[in-house]
Amino acid sequence: MIRLFVGLGLPEGLGERLTGLRGQIPGARWVPRENLHITLRFIGEVDEEAAADLDAALMRVDAPPFELVLRDVGHFESRGRVRSLWAGVERDPALEHLQARIETACQRAGMAPEGRKFHPHVTLARCRDTRTARIADFLADHGGFGVPAFPVDAFALYSSALGRGGAVYTREVEYPLGRT
Ligand code: ATP
Ligand code: MG
Repeated sequence: MIRLFVGLGLPEGLGERLTGLRGQIPGARWVPRENLHITLRFIGEVDEEAAADLDAALMRVDAPPFELVLRDVGHFESRGRVRSLWAGVERDPALEHLQARIETACQRAGMAPEGRKFHPHVTLARCRDTRTARIADFLADHGGFGVPAFPVDAFALYSSALGRGGAVYTREVEYPLGRT
């Protein structure tokens, strides 16, 4: 079995801007620079045959290249605890179009539909037992965060190996945009 997700990598220079947002937050595990990404579709554990079907379906996805802007920071929480901190991705119709095409491809390859609404973001930290009050400064300090538009000319299938030192992602297949 292999753990997979579909996502977008980020340009080199962006990593430093994003790791520059790190601060002292109890319970926060900051994502290593090389792991920063935008998830388009989480797949989870699949066998080799399902992975091959998925690859074949993704190969048929084409969409125009586009540009993205990162803006603002935010967090996800549940049961009164912060689960993650992230940098936001500005709403973009071309991104939504690509994500919808990928969702269709996943279902065509036999995956169950993703029930959750697409909320594009770059996860900066995962948190354990962090109270919302502890991130007030982080949110206030970086409310104006933004980076200039950067080009997106491919999406990729990543594998994720979960280990004690954290997840190791491998960019298994790259699917260029704008082929037709
Ligand atoms: P760890 O789980 O050890 O903290 P991780 O979250 O980086 O590591 P994965 O769990 O393999 O690694 O997740 C890969 C990507 O998919 C991450 O961007 C993660 O946020 C996202 N993801 C994981 N599970 C889901 C899910 N159930 N729904 C949507 N996205 C998910
Ligand atoms: Mg995870």
